[in-house]
Amino acid sequence: MKASDLKLEELVEFSEGNINLHGRRLVLHDLHAFAQFRKDLLDMAGPDAARTILTRFGYFWGQGDAAAMKRVFEWESLEEWLRAGPRLHTIQGVVRAVVQALTLDEATGHFEMRMDWHNSGEAEEHLIEQGPSHEPVCWMMTGYASGYSSFCLNREVFFLEKKCAAQGSLICAALGKDRKSWGDEIKPHLKFFQAEGITGKIMDLTRKLHQQSRELARQRHLLKTIEPPATLRHVEVHSAAFRAVVELAARVAPYDSSILITGESGVGKEVLARYIHANSPRARKPFVAINCAALPETLLDSELFGHKAGAFTGAIKDRAGLFEEADGGTVFLDEIGDVSASLQMKLLRVLQEKEVMPVGESRTRKVDVRVIAATNKNLTEALADGSFREDLYYRLRVIEIDVPPLRQRTEDILHLTRYFVKEASRKLGIRNLRLDATCIDYLQSYSWPGNVRELENAIERAAVLSREGLIRPEHLPPSIIHPLPSHTQGVSAINRRLADVEADHIRAVMRLTGDNKTRTARVLGISQATLWRRLKKLNADS
Ligand SMILES: [Zn+2]
Repeated sequence: MKASDLKLEELVEFSEGNINLHGRRLVLHDLHAFAQFRKDLLDMAGPDAARTILTRFGYFWGQGDAAAMKRVFEWESLEEWLRAGPRLHTIQGVVRAVVQALTLDEATGHFEMRMDWHNSGEAEEHLIEQGPSHEPVCWMMTGYASGYSSFCLNREVFFLEKKCAAQGSLICAALGKDRKSWGDEIKPHLKFFQAEGITGKIMDLTRKLHQQSRELARQRHLLKTIEPPATLRHVEVHSAAFRAVVELAARVAPYDSSILITGESGVGKEVLARYIHANSPRARKPFVAINCAALPETLLDSELFGHKAGAFTGAIKDRAGLFEEADGGTVFLDEIGDVSASLQMKLLRVLQEKEVMPVGESRTRKVDVRVIAATNKNLTEALADGSFREDLYYRLRVIEIDVPPLRQRTEDILHLTRYFVKEASRKLGIRNLRLDATCIDYLQSYSWPGNVRELENAIERAAVLSREGLIRPEHLPPSIIHPLPSHTQGVSAINRRLADVEADHIRAVMRLTGDNKTRTARVLGISQATLWRRLKKLNADS
């Protein structure tokens, strides 16, 4: 199909009450009525708005025609499809459009089209009501040509009218180019086209909406990290040792001072940190926790402080660090004793200056966070050998809370156990999960080197192994059951030789510590050399 082959009578189907262009309904308008409409627009909306409305009206008209031409015909070339635009303009009676020049370079994307418009209906319309104009007025026609060509080329094309019959010129002439070829010349005119019009605004709003939803998702993610109840899991505190800890935490929570929580692994240092956060004025802001020992130094650096795109391999985008994410809230740094010297320096800056410097950036950013740090190490030893900065230590340890190990708060074991049984029941979906009373002695006699976490895991394991919802001693981990020789040996225990009891006890502690000789020796209160001799003898005897 060629553009010159287009004929109105073959294109349009006329029937009673319907003029139809291959499925698209057309309506005939009177030019004088349109002239009045144009005048009203100019009077009521002002020249800029009137021009925009008419340009966009033409633009959609052109777009629609280009789409219809593509749907209905097979075009010899892209150029023929483009030329069908002016041809349609002509047979629709809008103007007699003549293509003066057409350049289309598909390799560079350069497009240029020079049009002569004879007998412009739009210029006539304008002259009827407005009289001669200082500027070109064929706005619908430039809109049409732009919309048509943009659709064909699938990129932005703009037509500008260079001279107009409404200015007193004999004919109108227009020039169309793709946006890149126009360069800056098109900029003042863009507002009349789609880029600065409603489409542009919608695109702008859509972009903003996407940003907002991303932000919302991030906030939701952060919210999840905030523990809602301000209580220590619900566990009633029965031991004096732990009650003192909770009371101290509650007293210091409202103030912004840094806190150092010390204690063995698994005593619940993070739970305590969350409790402090939840009872602080920062409770509605994020609580962000990170285990400093779990990440290699460079990753930890970018996790905490963020990074600039390109700061290192894999840093594709700028990323805010946890200190910025937690803005207004609390950052919990677990295993602070494992942090490298350079990160200690950066942490000191957070505490002293309240600012962070993302990896790969040269400027600092302000942050507003409370820092709670925790360690299971003896930091005074690290201070002595120089592996931990003294100034950072004192900044972190404005208040120190030492959480006692579970074996020093045996009164809490039963309550914690009952709580974990309830939790396991819910988590594993085991209804009526309960603890057989015979378990209690084992649980209370055990030394719990892994503390509350070990108890929690032991109960979960037992729940999995339980039958009909009843946890019996044999479902508990063997290490908990075996250190109780008096139970396993029954009444005969009273007749045992001291050497046998000692051998049993050494074996039990070895099992308990996972065959760790250093810890076994410490638990037994003997030197490693002594332990080594006893074990050698045990092996020889058996
Ligand atoms: Zn004109």
